[in-house]
Amino acid sequence: MKLSKRAHMIKPSPTLAITAKAKAMRAQGIDVISFGAGEPDFDTPQHIKDAAITALQEGFTKYTPVGGIDELKEAICAKLQRENGVQYLKENILVSCGGKHSFYNMAQAFIDEGDEVIIPAPYWVSYPPMVALAGGKPVSVSTSEEEGFKLCPETLEKAITPKTKALVINSPSNPTGSAYTREELMGLADVALKHNMYIISDEIYEKIVYDGFEHVSIASMSDEVKKLTIILNGVSKTYSMTGWRIGYTAGPKELIAAMNNIQSQSTSNPTSFAQKGALDALQGSQAEVSAMVEEYQRRRDLICEGLTAITGISCYTPQGAFYVFPNVGAYLGKEYKGERITNTSQLTGYLLDEARVAVVPGVEFGAEGFLRLSYPIAPEVITEGIARIKEALARLD
Ligand code: PLP
Repeated sequence: MKLSKRAHMIKPSPTLAITAKAKAMRAQGIDVISFGAGEPDFDTPQHIKDAAITALQEGFTKYTPVGGIDELKEAICAKLQRENGVQYLKENILVSCGGKHSFYNMAQAFIDEGDEVIIPAPYWVSYPPMVALAGGKPVSVSTSEEEGFKLCPETLEKAITPKTKALVINSPSNPTGSAYTREELMGLADVALKHNMYIISDEIYEKIVYDGFEHVSIASMSDEVKKLTIILNGVSKTYSMTGWRIGYTAGPKELIAAMNNIQSQSTSNPTSFAQKGALDALQGSQAEVSAMVEEYQRRRDLICEGLTAITGISCYTPQGAFYVFPNVGAYLGKEYKGERITNTSQLTGYLLDEARVAVVPGVEFGAEGFLRLSYPIAPEVITEGIARIKEALARLD
């Protein structure tokens, strides 16, 4: 069958592929430890489940307005005002089927053939393909471990061309856990204002921050910056609701209306009772979120300590999200049974086969020489996984 050019452009998400491989090995009885999936291990808080169950029992099982129910849009506006200091109306909000769908719809409604979108690397694996699927050109701009994997205004300036339409900022970041301070965002916002460039701000990990780090939404810098900002967010990570598929966009009303049209001709509304769950998540007690974040911080400390104790590995200490991105460059070029390991894809294959540990190669995030480990897993499993990695790496000559 002759498939579309679009279909040939895209490969499956590598993180989902590695997680699936680890699951398949487990199904064969192989004891694999997976640092692959970017998903919390906690259950969704009970009060959120109860809200969805009540909605089901009350028959809230039909189509809703395409862009989400009014109550949820109002709760999102209230949240953005209360927590991020930005004021939006319902006409500025669209609820979609997960944060990924929010980004996808945004790209379809906003990016044209040949438009350039600057994506600081390391980046979330799905940004470049979603920009490319919209006909745009993803422009990857490298950042270094030394600069905390953050883009500085000078580097941003250099990447801008007459075709640049937008910059993607993901703070806290998947895969590095690095997060921008207010001052750093101010520097980037100034460049955006100067060039009249839009800022796509993915804030899905905003509540998963450590050591008292204050998440700042770049839209809160000024009214001018807000006009250029598209905020993407969702309930998946904060509330351990990955399977519920609720994400949202806040931005200029013309864009939201265009995204709404695209959504109306593709998925229609996000699941009715999942919206009720999301409503409860935003309005209900946040106590479980705090407890989960405290636990993630303990695990971050555990995994960073374990990784840096391995000879040749350095590990940037994340300010947020639940990933670490250790530098394993020292192990590239080493050999196992006469076979040279030259890149992190091979190293990941080696770790899966020989250590029975699943991790994701940095190259998938636009940064060769690193691995991504997701750590929402039990502390004793983290310890065992790191011990296996250490032992396997020591076997390389
Ligand atoms: N943005 C980032 C940076 C992510 O890491 C993810 C999920 O991995 C998403 C958005 C999308 O999340 P979801 O579609 O599950 O809401």
